[in-house]
Amino acid sequence: MKLNFCSLSSGSSGNCYYLGNEFHGILIDAGISATSIRKFLKSMDVSMQTIMGVLITHNHIDHIKGLELLTRKNSLPVFTTRKIWKSILTPQIKISTDCIREIPLQKKFHLAGFDIEAFPVCHDAPETIGFHICAGVKKITIVTDLGHICQTSGSYIKAANLLVIESNYDEKMLENGRYPHFLKARIRSDHGHLGNHQTAAFLAENINDNLSNICLAHLSKNNNTPELVLKTLQQTFSARGIILNGRQQISVLNRNIPSDWIRLNE
Ligand SMILES: [Zn+2]
Ligand SMILES: [Zn+2]
Repeated sequence: MKLNFCSLSSGSSGNCYYLGNEFHGILIDAGISATSIRKFLKSMDVSMQTIMGVLITHNHIDHIKGLELLTRKNSLPVFTTRKIWKSILTPQIKISTDCIREIPLQKKFHLAGFDIEAFPVCHDAPETIGFHICAGVKKITIVTDLGHICQTSGSYIKAANLLVIESNYDEKMLENGRYPHFLKARIRSDHGHLGNHQTAAFLAENINDNLSNICLAHLSKNNNTPELVLKTLQQTFSARGIILNGRQQISVLNRNIPSDWIRLNE
């Protein structure tokens, strides 16, 4: 089985990721407009007819902005927990009951040739989940919004061959930036977002040869740059004597345009 991953958009303004095999695909989050999702998929030569469902991580607008229109036009099944559904289905957002699929935490379900498991992460939404997706022997973990890496999320992160992980803010940019004090505190908190140093330290501690691709995701528009993410990672690794041996491909996902394809062979 061939596995293809691409980020359509990643960051505090909108998140949507595609994972597919040679037959089908799934989307993870729909935080950009439905028009952009369709346009980007078309530009990547992915037919909308091959999309078998959408997985949703939580109810923040940068993860569900396009969901209503996407389901209205394409009638796709959407998978998330009962608690997250409750937080999404407000008078402002109407999703047809035909599209609603409830999934349990930490229990595998099957979709489009993938075995998928949702796991809880710490973030300031009613509930937030990451996804651990198995395709044959390959494992993909996607965690984009979390204030810290707890034991549960840590174990799914460590098991990944392809890891999409948040590196939201540069600690100095946030400190010196214009955000009000309460917002800075919220972002830094255990239920906010991961800073560059937090992500880099966890990766330095847990890097292993099974981890072939690391995608640094969900960058803040105002408090980060791709250059700072990579610089922090390199400095953290070299301070711990870690020399990357070329087995890991590391990339920072674009905020507003699709990333390059990441292709894994099973
Ligand atoms: Zn987000
Ligand atoms: Zn969020």
